[in-house]
Amino acid sequence: MGQGDEPRPVRHPLSHTVVVGAGPAGLATSAALVRAGRAVTLLERADRVGAAWAARYDSLHLHTVRWLSGLPGLRIPRAYGRWVARDDLLRYLATYAEVHGLRPELGVTVTGLEAADGEGWVVRTDAGDRTAGRVVVATGYSHTPRRPDWPGVETFPGDVRHSADYREPTPYAGKHVLVVGAGNSATEIALDLLGAGARVTLSVRTPPNIVRRDTYGIPSQVFGIAMKRAPAPLKDPLAAAMRRISVPDLSAQGLPATTNPYTQFRETGTVPILDTGIVDAVRSGRVAVVAATVSVAGARVHLADGGTVEPDAVIAATGFTTGLEPLVGHLGVLDRRGVPRVHGADDLAIARGLHFVGIRAELSGLLREIGLEARAVGRALASRP
Ligand SMILES: Cc1cc2nc3c(=O)[nH]c(=O)nc-3n(C[C@H](O)[C@H](O)[C@H](O)COP(=O)(O)OP(=O)(O)OC[C@H]3O[C@@H](n4cnc5c(N)ncnc54)[C@H](O)[C@@H]3O)c2cc1C
Repeated sequence: MGQGDEPRPVRHPLSHTVVVGAGPAGLATSAALVRAGRAVTLLERADRVGAAWAARYDSLHLHTVRWLSGLPGLRIPRAYGRWVARDDLLRYLATYAEVHGLRPELGVTVTGLEAADGEGWVVRTDAGDRTAGRVVVATGYSHTPRRPDWPGVETFPGDVRHSADYREPTPYAGKHVLVVGAGNSATEIALDLLGAGARVTLSVRTPPNIVRRDTYGIPSQVFGIAMKRAPAPLKDPLAAAMRRISVPDLSAQGLPATTNPYTQFRETGTVPILDTGIVDAVRSGRVAVVAATVSVAGARVHLADGGTVEPDAVIAATGFTTGLEPLVGHLGVLDRRGVPRVHGADDLAIARGLHFVGIRAELSGLLREIGLEARAVGRALASRP
């Protein structure tokens, strides 16, 4: 069914699972359920699989290594290199759907979930309601751009856009661009802009943790995976030591190391920056770091330390929210940041049969975790009626 069709209710049997979203998480979960012999309907609002990746900036490469980023049941081809490019990942996801015989219903937006009378779920969509015994929400951790609401932002005469709307750097050549944020998108876009001849200033509220993408050929992701098993009291000291060993001190340039990087990650859900050149760019002064952006007055951007900058354009790499409130906010299944309280095969007593895959931040690489969660859902549901 596609957009524009008359809405009609579809009643699936209780043994049926509706999966929402055909990104990596929805594809991997659907494939795991099919392998477990379950009937699945995969609903996707866009007109293709992997739509979120298709919309991202041209120069984007995975910062997790290829061999730890594939989904269960299909390796990412070696020919795609160590750090897979956006378009190659899209090719991989399309092949993944094909190889697993997945036929998502495209152009169907899920607008809400309700517990059905008796058992199971009513899935409300813009193409009519569905009922199913179980629902897997795989709509993405980085779902809704957190757009800046700085007072006066509407008075800025130049272009202001969220990183989700940034594609490529040529329009910024020769301009002074303020990139706001301290995540991987902010630093990668800053480097992209530098390469195109822009002058770049990075506005940072909380100095991020930074690690090298790999050290002597070992990807930092391997360290992230090991960290999951480290005893809780060691996580902060270990992460701090990793930073000290691998990244020079950038305090003078405005990016001091934090003493509790792991706690910071847990509290903010922001993964460390995997250095692909930002450390050199900041150290050499090619990227200037300034304080947090607090307000805008015409061409002037005011910073938390009282300073000002007058850029030609602003790119707000200010992150994303899960956007789950309208879908499931009324069910009591989200924490204060809008992140599900359970993941993968787990469900809550107040919402039996409602699962979430891929909707959390992970140091060990989200694609890898998505594969693990999808497998767990497949295993758990294989043994249930
Ligand atoms: C810039 C960036 C770089 C990243 N790089 C890496 C990396 O290198 N390595 C790594 O492991 N992870 C990375 N991640 C994290 C994560 O792996 C990706 O975001 C990945 O795409 C997550 O897959 P997903 O299926 O959970 O979500 P998404 O890819 O966002 O897919 C969600 C799907 O759900 C659909 N959808 C949403 N709402 C609805 C609705 N209401 N109804 C129907 N369909 C809906 C969307 O259209 C989309 O197709 C990165 C994330 C970002 C933002």
